[in-house]
Parts: sequence; C-alpha cells; structure tokens
Amino acid sequence: MAEKIWQPLKRRYCEHARAVVTLDAELVYPAEHLPDQPPRVEAHRCSGAVDCRLFNRGTCVWASTNPDYDPFLEKS
Ligand code: SF4
Repeated sequence: MAEKIWQPLKRRYCEHARAVVTLDAELVYPAEHLPDQPPRVEAHRCSGAVDCRLFNRGTCVWASTNPDYDPFLEKS
C-alpha cells in the first residue's frame, strides 16, 4: 500500500505570521512491490497557512490571498 507523508522543504521567517514557517511537500511513496520508483509530489503547503486564513493575515500564494507573491521564492 502506498504511503503519504508531509516533508518540510524550506524554512523561513514570515513577516506576516511573525514566525518561522515551513514549506511542506506531500510525498506519496509507492507500494512495496515497486521499490525503485521515486516518491510522487502530490501537493505543497505552508505550515502557517491555516492560521493566516483564520486571522486574515496572509498575503501570499500559500494563504490563497495573493497569487503573485510567494515568500519561499525570496532570498533570505
Ligand atoms: S501562508 Fe504565506 S503569509 Fe502565511 S505564514 Fe505562510 S508564507 Fe507567511
């Protein structure tokens, strides 16, 4: 049976959340009878996005409020 896990890819300080947040990828590992296949990336998320949406703080692509701004693409 395939296995799904969320794996952190990047960490950075977010000015909007005033906290360190991570960009996570949902990886799907194949079933045991296909051991040589690499994991498939299903989705990405920001660890702070839920709080941003709840408190209307987010202003980026991961909070679904600004598709033109991705804080994880900025150089830190
Ligand atoms: S969703 Fe965007 S604004 Fe909110 S914590 Fe993540 S990077 Fe920051």
